Amino acid sequence: MEKEILPEALHKAIEHISKLPGYGEKSAQKFVENLLKLPKGESIDTIRALLDMLNKINPCKECGLLTEHEICNICSDENRDKSIICVVEESFDAFAIEKTGKFKGVYHVLHGRLSPLEGITEKDLNIPSLVKRAEKATEIIIATNPTIEGEATSTYIYNLLKNKDIEISRIAYGLPFGASLENADTFTLSKALEGKRRI
Ligand SMILES: [Zn+2]
Repeated sequence: MEKEILPEALHKAIEHISKLPGYGEKSAQKFVENLLKLPKGESIDTIRALLDMLNKINPCKECGLLTEHEICNICSDENRDKSIICVVEESFDAFAIEKTGKFKGVYHVLHGRLSPLEGITEKDLNIPSLVKRAEKATEIIIATNPTIEGEATSTYIYNLLKNKDIEISRIAYGLPFGASLENADTFTLSKALEGKRRI
């Protein structure tokens, strides 16, 4: 849309939102439009919640999971088995797995997946600390998404760790290829964890 027609403040908001990955100009416009339709109090509460989140949330220093603390609740829980590490692409994948109540180990969040098309390489991912953490692990469960990128990431991690004395497994999928963990229902995800296979 032409800048001149749009009020400056509107243009700025849309410009910023459309810079977010996955948001084009159209979805940024929709977001702004919906926000402006809310009663003023509600929309301000929404933005305050976003600001609050930005101020409080950071990646756990140990595993990369989004947390309000320096070390997340899972890493600091003495009842979690630190020798079993489940590798996920994003924090929300880990939160989805947590809902199953089936996993008693800890996580490692990559903050993405290998994607040559998007120019995302191993250097952009939280991989060096995984190699370090793997030294103390007995089992690594790779739970990247069942997509081409997720599979490529899984293979990359496997090759990186295969010579170490660790059991490496890949989560099983009742999920269709191309699906994502964070959108999977709890039952499907429980089955996927139970059916993990060694690679
Ligand atoms: Zn953590």
